[in-house]
Amino acid sequence: MSPAGSIPRVLGDARFSSTAPRGSLHFMPELPEVETTRRGIEPHAVGRRILALEVHEPRLRWRVPDDLPDLVRGQRVLHAKRRAKYLLLELESGTLLLHLGMSGSLRVLPAETPRLTHDHFDLQLDSGSTLRFNDPRRFGSLHYTTGDPNEHPLLAELAPEPLDTGFNAEYLWETTRGRRVTIKQLLMNSKLVVGVGNIYASEALFRAKVRPRRQARSLSREEVARLTRAVRTVLTMAIRVGGTTLRDYVGADGLPGYFRQKLYVYERASQPCRKCGTPVRQFTQGQRSTYYCPSCQK
Ligand SMILES: [Zn+2]
Repeated sequence: MSPAGSIPRVLGDARFSSTAPRGSLHFMPELPEVETTRRGIEPHAVGRRILALEVHEPRLRWRVPDDLPDLVRGQRVLHAKRRAKYLLLELESGTLLLHLGMSGSLRVLPAETPRLTHDHFDLQLDSGSTLRFNDPRRFGSLHYTTGDPNEHPLLAELAPEPLDTGFNAEYLWETTRGRRVTIKQLLMNSKLVVGVGNIYASEALFRAKVRPRRQARSLSREEVARLTRAVRTVLTMAIRVGGTTLRDYVGADGLPGYFRQKLYVYERASQPCRKCGTPVRQFTQGQRSTYYCPSCQK
């Protein structure tokens, strides 16, 4: 791990470049990164027809079905949506469900761009561009359904979106009552709320002034309300600036995310809290690093 708070590598305008570094060990797309990817590909994909799906490596988290190229060839892309950390490409006869996994990225590139190691499939569009999926660790996935995508087994059980109205103080209050789990682990439980990963859970708890190790059921109504707002704020801000730069995260347009520069505690162990100057503390919780300010958070 490089020193906490290291300056994000600025890639410059890497649009349409196949040489931007990708796939570092610490890269982990969370909801803002997936939303950034969706917004990046939307203008390039929607309205375009799929010339071909070229699968170079079908062994992703689940094997890409052999008949998928035949199923999607010739279909027009109607919408680019997102549910939790899934990208949904709605086609004329069905929907492609793409998950970026631990290290995946989807880029818009000219079709003739030479492939790199870990480029696993290309969705060739009639514009001359291709949506190219790169994933060093191959935890990503590609599925297709002709039914309602929200009924697909991967999506059917998902909890409310943190930016939708279903996620509110009342919902979080009900969810936290009687649960013997820490508030940070509750926030990261995708059966209760989707898309709040390690970075944003730490940051939201800082903003809500709540310590990550607190029992979820110990939070007051006021704290729950603050936390609900904080989750929305950190995700909205992160989406606005294109996700968090974790070493070399780049959006679909090849530009890096800048949310890292706005992080209060994440990966800032021993550095002064940006609000009060107290050294930020780090500990391990559920096998993930957690960061908090012992002075600002109660
Ligand atoms: Zn502080």
